[in-house]
Amino acid sequence: MGTQTVAIVEDDRDIREMLTDFLGGQGFAILSAPDGASFRAQMATARPDLVILDIGLPDDHGYRIMQWLRERGADCPPIIIVTGASSPRDRSAGLDLGADDYVCKPFDLGELLSRVRAVLRRAAPRPAPVAVPSDLHVRFGPWLLKRDDRVLLHEPDGRQVDLTAMEFDLLSVMVQRPNQVLSRDELLQLAHTRKAEPFDRAIDVRITRLRRKIEINPTHPGFIRTIRGIGYMFHPEGAV
Ligand code: CA
Repeated sequence: MGTQTVAIVEDDRDIREMLTDFLGGQGFAILSAPDGASFRAQMATARPDLVILDIGLPDDHGYRIMQWLRERGADCPPIIIVTGASSPRDRSAGLDLGADDYVCKPFDLGELLSRVRAVLRRAAPRPAPVAVPSDLHVRFGPWLLKRDDRVLLHEPDGRQVDLTAMEFDLLSVMVQRPNQVLSRDELLQLAHTRKAEPFDRAIDVRITRLRRKIEINPTHPGFIRTIRGIGYMFHPEGAV
């Protein structure tokens, strides 16, 4: 992977320059903009790997810029929003709108750097799967998960279950780790499910959908158990 580019959209000149120096010193290429209009203009040609976006800009609102970025679909770079410490509503609204993470002013540069790295890691393209032949076909209950063909079959009648790519990735990660408690964060990392919504609830929504497709009784799931306060565990025997 070559140099990664971070775009900094921040009207406070001191903060903008501090971030530029600091992240530049960490080996990132920096694109910086003091307001929404110049950032939008830069985005006509630039493809940053990550955007650090101040919510309070003189000419624009950070949310509007986020929505504008989201309209690019898969082309939307990951976003870390920067809010004032006194604006908890900004943070939750920002996350609802699809920010990948946030920092509050005044923020610690070390903390920001670890958030930048974590978000970039989650956004990294999926590595080529390592083929382990014995794991390619996994059976549980009435199901046969063919990881090489990316299909889930109901073996008794040969019916193929319609799974989204993310549901398939989640299930695939879990069946390879039977009877292990996996936190939501581990599931996110392992399944590389960054796109769309990044946070915990996104995993929960996908698990719910997956359960509807594979559990005999989705309200009393046997295969994908909830481990309260931590995450989930895949139980191949399925019995509750
Ligand atoms: Ca500002």
